Amino acid sequence: MFIEKKKGIVLISIVCVVFASVYVLAKKRPPRALIPILLYHDINTKESRYSVTPHNFRAHLEKLWQAGFVTARLEDVLTNKEHIRNKKIVLLRFDDSRRSQCNYLIKENGTSYLDPDCAAGILLEFYKTHPSFGKHALFCIIPLECFGQRKYCKDKCLFLLKEGMELVNHGFYHVDLTQATPDEIDANFGKAMNFWHSLLGPDRADTIISVATPYGTQPSNNEARQRLHCFSYQGKTYHQKAVLYAGKKFNKTAHTPLCPHFDPYCLPALEVTNSNFDRILSRISY
Ligand SMILES: [Zn+2]
Repeated sequence: MFIEKKKGIVLISIVCVVFASVYVLAKKRPPRALIPILLYHDINTKESRYSVTPHNFRAHLEKLWQAGFVTARLEDVLTNKEHIRNKKIVLLRFDDSRRSQCNYLIKENGTSYLDPDCAAGILLEFYKTHPSFGKHALFCIIPLECFGQRKYCKDKCLFLLKEGMELVNHGFYHVDLTQATPDEIDANFGKAMNFWHSLLGPDRADTIISVATPYGTQPSNNEARQRLHCFSYQGKTYHQKAVLYAGKKFNKTAHTPLCPHFDPYCLPALEVTNSNFDRILSRISY
C-alpha cells in the first residue's frame, strides 16, 4: 500500500516537472526574428503565376492557421508591439488593387455587397470561424486601378480600413523604377498620395505609411532609393515608415525589429502561387 502510494507521488512529481519544464520553455521561447510577407495578385477562377482560386486561397489560410500563424498589422510589426511580439506572424500582401481582391456584387435593386469569393470576402469569412487568425492584410493600391470598380473606389478603401486592413501606396504609374530619378519617385508616389488625400481625406490617407514599388524593383540610383523614404509633390511632403519590394532579388522572408538585419525600408516578399505554397509554408514554418 505504502509502495503504491509512493509510486503515485513519484508519478505525479514527474508529470509536474515535465509540465513545468514545458511551460518554462514556452514562456522563454525566443521571439521570432523572421516574418514572411506572402504576396498575392488575383484571387480568380484560374490558377496562374498571378492568380490563385478562391478554393485554394481558403486552403492557404487554413494551412497557415494550422501551422500556428496569425495575421498582424505592418504598423504593429514595425513598432514591435507587445501584443504580437511572441506570435508567429504572417503578413498577407495584395498588389495592384485588382477587382478580385475587393469586389462588389450588385443586387437588382442597385445595392452592393462584398463578393464572398474575393480576397477580402474570403479573409473576413475565415476570420468569423478563426478569430485568433486575425483579418489583417496589406492592399497595395493604384489610383487608376482601384479594385476595378472606380465608382466604389472610396467606399472599398474605407471599408478595408474599417476592417483593420492597411493600404499601401503602389504609385500612380505602374512603371519599373530600376532607372528612376529622385524626381520621378516624387512624381509617382507623391501624385498618388495627393490622389488618396483628396479621395479619402487626410485622416484616412495618413494611415498610408508605406510604399510598394511596382514590379517589386529597387531604384539603382541611391538618391532615388532614399527618396522612397520621404517624397514630395506639389508642396506636400510624405514620410514613409516602410518600403516593400518583391521579385527575384527580394524573394525571401523579412526580418523583424528583433533582428539586427531588420530594415523597414527594404522589406522583401514571397510571391505565392498554388504550386509553390506548400514549399513556402515548409520554408517559413520553423
Ligand atoms: Zn504591382
